[in-house]
Amino acid sequence: MTIAHPRPSEPTLSVQRAPVDGNCPQCGTSALQAYPLLSEGGWFDVVKCAHCLHSVARNPGPKLGPIELLADRI
Ligand SMILES: [Zn+2]
Repeated sequence: MTIAHPRPSEPTLSVQRAPVDGNCPQCGTSALQAYPLLSEGGWFDVVKCAHCLHSVARNPGPKLGPIELLADRI
């Protein structure tokens, strides 16, 4: 018997975080990551330091974040 919905192999759900070149202006480490973030203003595409959480960039992203509607492609 096959399992229709197998248990996820990762312990937590997470968005894809892309490593970004460069150093954090706050703490100097090269741990910058770019990823979509949901905040009080909606979704933002952010670049943040994974070490001290300093925000390097914060741009308004798609309204539904990682969810892409077919209608948005028309
Ligand atoms: Zn930092």
